[in-house]
Amino acid sequence: MQTHDCKKELHTVALKVTPVRLKVLDVLEHADVPLDAATIKGRVNADKVTVFRILNSLTEKGLLKPIQFNDGKLRYEYAGKPKHHHFICENCGKIIDVEGCTIGILEKDIEKEKGVLVKRHSLEFFGLCADCQN
Ligand SMILES: [Zn+2]
Ligand SMILES: [Zn+2]
Ligand SMILES: [Zn+2]
Repeated sequence: MQTHDCKKELHTVALKVTPVRLKVLDVLEHADVPLDAATIKGRVNADKVTVFRILNSLTEKGLLKPIQFNDGKLRYEYAGKPKHHHFICENCGKIIDVEGCTIGILEKDIEKEKGVLVKRHSLEFFGLCADCQN
């Protein structure tokens, strides 16, 4: 796996490098699933206001991607991750990354058919996780 420099990443988007900012970025970069603010706060050991401010600025600069599922909770994911979708278990709420995205083909079809320009899409899968099927 390629390692990269979070500090450089912050410099690139003209954000000051602070220990908490680095920590937030690091936590999200290594998270397997999107995390909500409360979870992130618990992992970086900073106060709520600071964490919210950092999440907002990192999102504004395009380093984080906000994700909203049907539960109304806002979660964040590192924007540099390869394109993927999510599966959400309707029983236990577990979120699983679904690798690979083949929607590009469909996007091209939509553009051709409707004469529109598709910039992004959002797609989630809902059902029962492996544990909840028993
Ligand atoms: Zn489940
Ligand atoms: Zn994800
Ligand atoms: Zn996709």
